[in-house]
Amino acid sequence: MFINISNLKKSYTSGVVITEVLKGIEMKIDKGEIGVILGPSGSGKSTLMNIIGGIDRGDSGRVIVDGIEVNNLNDDKLTDYRREHIGVVFQFYNLVPNLTVGENIEVVSNISKSPLNTDDVLAAVEMQDKKHRFPRELSGGEQQRVSLARAIVKNPKLLLCDEPTGALDYQTSRSILRLLELVNKKFGTTILMITHNAAIAAMANRVFKLRSGQIVEDVVNQGIVPAERIEW
Ligand code: ADP
Repeated sequence: MFINISNLKKSYTSGVVITEVLKGIEMKIDKGEIGVILGPSGSGKSTLMNIIGGIDRGDSGRVIVDGIEVNNLNDDKLTDYRREHIGVVFQFYNLVPNLTVGENIEVVSNISKSPLNTDDVLAAVEMQDKKHRFPRELSGGEQQRVSLARAIVKNPKLLLCDEPTGALDYQTSRSILRLLELVNKKFGTTILMITHNAAIAAMANRVFKLRSGQIVEDVVNQGIVPAERIEW
């Protein structure tokens, strides 16, 4: 089991109000799988992903990623875990505006232990001819390709995608989904993706439905549909 989460709980306190955001999450994903988390806004999806990615901490429960007890790591070890093992793609790209495409990727590869070659990842996302451009010169879909290249250049064990197609039109969304599938196949990267779009669940091995901090459905997908054939 690559990701194994049991009884994960998380609350936020603001003033005297305590909000229980995760209420005992159970989640299992095997190595090399694609997992999709579906759920309405405010159901706890980002909180769960942030804890898996070592950006936030759970209050209790176990979060094991590739044998690492993420919830027990001290701050330094948590930073190492994030840096070495986790790639993240966000809805809004988060590229550094005054660096070129190539430089955006190299800032990550330079601090990675066993990075992939920058030109190879740019080729994988079909952006090699834009290496010397700046983010503002690219379309949203192209920026998302670069942010995907930046996430995979460190060759992460786990790629976390938070609404990766949330800001993109239909055709561009589909091309990003095809690329995620390609990364999963080519590099064996385990992928966990948050989405509002239930159609995207068809390309996943496992689908988790989250409601008010609880997994209300956990489905092993028997009939995986390639991203290319997904429509909505
Ligand atoms: P989703 O990603 O499904 O939209 P989130 O995980 O972002 O949900 O948020 C779940 C709930 O936790 C929301 O009610 C949100 O307001 C609350 N929340 C998230 N982060 C914080 C925080 N840092 N402080 C207080 N409340 C938070």
